[in-house]
Amino acid sequence: MLNSFYAKLSALFLVLILGLGVVLIVLGGRTAQRYADEVEQKLNRTLAQEMVPRFEPLLEDRIDKAAIRSKIEDMTGINRRIEIYLLDREGRLKASFAPDSAVIEQKRVDMAPIRQFMAGATLPILGDDPRRDGAQKPFSVAHIEIMGQEGCYLYVILRSEQYASAAGMIGDSYIIRGALTGLGLILLVVTGVGLLLFRRLTQRLRHMQDVVGTFEQGHFDVRVDEGSNDEIGQLAACFNRMADTLNETMEELRQADRMRRELVANVSHDLRSPLASIQGYLETVHMKDGALDPSDRQRYVKTALRNAQRLSDLVGELFELSKLETKQVEPNIEPFSIAELVQDVVMQYQPQAEDQTIDLRADLPAEPTRVEADIGLVERALSNLIDNAIHYTPEDGRVQVRVDKHDRNVSVSVSDTGPGIPDDALPHIFERSYRVDKSRDRDKGGAGLGLAIAKTILELHDSTLEVESTVGEGTIFRFRLPVELPGPQPAQRP
Ligand code: ADP
Repeated sequence: MLNSFYAKLSALFLVLILGLGVVLIVLGGRTAQRYADEVEQKLNRTLAQEMVPRFEPLLEDRIDKAAIRSKIEDMTGINRRIEIYLLDREGRLKASFAPDSAVIEQKRVDMAPIRQFMAGATLPILGDDPRRDGAQKPFSVAHIEIMGQEGCYLYVILRSEQYASAAGMIGDSYIIRGALTGLGLILLVVTGVGLLLFRRLTQRLRHMQDVVGTFEQGHFDVRVDEGSNDEIGQLAACFNRMADTLNETMEELRQADRMRRELVANVSHDLRSPLASIQGYLETVHMKDGALDPSDRQRYVKTALRNAQRLSDLVGELFELSKLETKQVEPNIEPFSIAELVQDVVMQYQPQAEDQTIDLRADLPAEPTRVEADIGLVERALSNLIDNAIHYTPEDGRVQVRVDKHDRNVSVSVSDTGPGIPDDALPHIFERSYRVDKSRDRDKGGAGLGLAIAKTILELHDSTLEVESTVGEGTIFRFRLPVELPGPQPAQRP
């Protein structure tokens, strides 16, 4: 608790308030004392001057102390708070008429304040008090002639009962005590309000600490209440943003991990079935070698070879996808005619389409359509799309590959009259090893990598692979490539 931010802040604040209190009291006390000195001296400025005519007759040939004392007693009956001294020209004490002469400590007073006073300088001027060494008090002074010697001084210390310390004056003054009590109350209220405000401010920090603690324990959905937009609010907003990013990253990691597991599971399954088939057929051929008639043996070996080919294709696709995803393939961008490429790929798939009595056509624009892309990679993506379209379209269906030229890009679409893809499956078809119909005979479907490869290829070209599909009507896949920028000579397709 003592180590908390609030405790430290409060302690610092209390020390400051106490310091302020002490400074105010000391300054206030001094000012009050100076003010009292000034008033006293101004009121009694001419006091010494007025006394001179009364004392001079008693100082003509000797200092008649007894007579002077009785005169002083007459006078101090009215003002008891004065002490009278006779000084020579240099300020040496010639006679003292203080109430108790035994405690005279200074035999000589400083002449500088006396000269200032005589010259009419601004009051208050404090002079030496002969009764106390080092003490300074307001005074009144006038020239007086002592035993024929002119230029001596009648030196009157005012406020002889002057308070020795500020504390004494405070104790005696009702007004000062009242003012000090008021000051004390104000400081008390300021302290109370300050501590409350600090508590409120640090409460937000404590709230943040609680939330961060909860977050640390694994409750990743907690957020800090941001409140106002000050530094603490901004810190809270920062934490909230960081927590959001962290959550998103964790979600992405979880997703990637789930996909990786699925991929491993699916791929191992896909690898196992052709392997089992190869093994089975080869074992049969091996064991029944003599008993098999040549046509059966031929059939078994062909089936084993076909499965070996599938296995090889699958491993090849996996390897290709992994290279594309880890950016080991750097697209070799060059200009080429996309219409020609489409024409070529369509021709390659023509026999397969004819086998399935599918009408496969290319719909190409009359004008030249040159794009800037990696021709090999685009051919691969296009083949995957056409292969899928033919694959999933039933007999007597139609597959159309269209090329359309726009201002800045060329769009290529592959549409079919196949079964379409259900809406809930559409967002997933580009994921690795995703198949809409999971129970489908894997002999008929691929490994679920074709679209993932096509999509990654287009991403490498800063493009996207879009899909529109209506169940029962067909599917369209579309991508765009940038048209060739006017520049040096075109490259020929190998
Ligand atoms: P596969 O090798 O299984 O074809 P793909 O990644 O190429 O894998 O495609 C993923 C899934 O998307 C396929 O399993 C299929 O269900 C669906 N699909 C892809 N193309 C089409 C299409 N033209 N018509 C209907 N479904 C398709």
